[in-house]
Amino acid sequence: MRIVLLGPPGAGKGTQAKMIARDLGISVLSTGDIIRLAIKNQTPWGKKAEKFVESGGLVPDEVVIGIVKEKIDQDDLWSGFILDGFPRTIKQAEALEAMLGERNLSLDAVLYFAVDKEEVIKRLSSRRVCENCQATYNLLSNPPLQEGICDRCGGKLVQRDDDKPEVIRQRLETYEKETKPLIDFYQKRNLLYVIPSNGPIEEVYNKVKEVLEEVTAR
Ligand code: ADP
Ligand code: ADP
Ligand code: ZN
Repeated sequence: MRIVLLGPPGAGKGTQAKMIARDLGISVLSTGDIIRLAIKNQTPWGKKAEKFVESGGLVPDEVVIGIVKEKIDQDDLWSGFILDGFPRTIKQAEALEAMLGERNLSLDAVLYFAVDKEEVIKRLSSRRVCENCQATYNLLSNPPLQEGICDRCGGKLVQRDDDKPEVIRQRLETYEKETKPLIDFYQKRNLLYVIPSNGPIEEVYNKVKEVLEEVTAR
């Protein structure tokens, strides 16, 4: 199954991606995680990407498209993947369509996580991530067992630099302008499934499962 997860920052894409991956055994490709790792390691393109991420903008299309293609090839994921955070622009969506088309493949579904703006701001400001294994927590909805410490690996939990209020505001603007048009793009291709996502994690996941069953049965 080839799935794209779409939605504003903080909608819960990463959280749901991990749950789908665990249950269906499909690999997740998160462009945000790949980009953050490259910045942390200060690789040549990681250095260039840093200023875009810090300011709440997008890393240039050519760079991200190149990374995704390379990663799908490298990990041999053409038969199945969950894309978390890609595509984020029409250009990226067209590039993805072309990559798949070259291989006579297509997407099975695009899950759009629909959440109110206030809820998204609340989720982002209370998000904490493990510095060591990238596990995601939430101070309000999904706290770790022990404050400041990752349940899975004992690593330190930190706030992402781009989860500070000024950057959150800019990321939401970037989303409205660059990414929201993808809803229409995928609706036209009959691939869009709307997941109402204001509720708790498990409730959202139940809807995801329902939709994926429907997609499989199609
Ligand atoms: P995204 O990948 O879309 O940016 P995340 O999966 O990182 O979103 O979720 C954003 C934050 O909100 C995290 O702290 C996560 O633990 C929390 N979260 C995710 N889904 C929900 C939900 N349905 N209700 C409340 N909090 C959630
Ligand atoms: P969130 O889901 O919370 O918005 P991500 O972890 O998906 O965050 O992405 C973090 C940042 O990485 C984005 O704000 C953007 O700067 C960059 N990024 C991630 N994916 C893409 C993409 N597909 N195209 C361009 N930039 C991206
Ligand atoms: Zn950890």
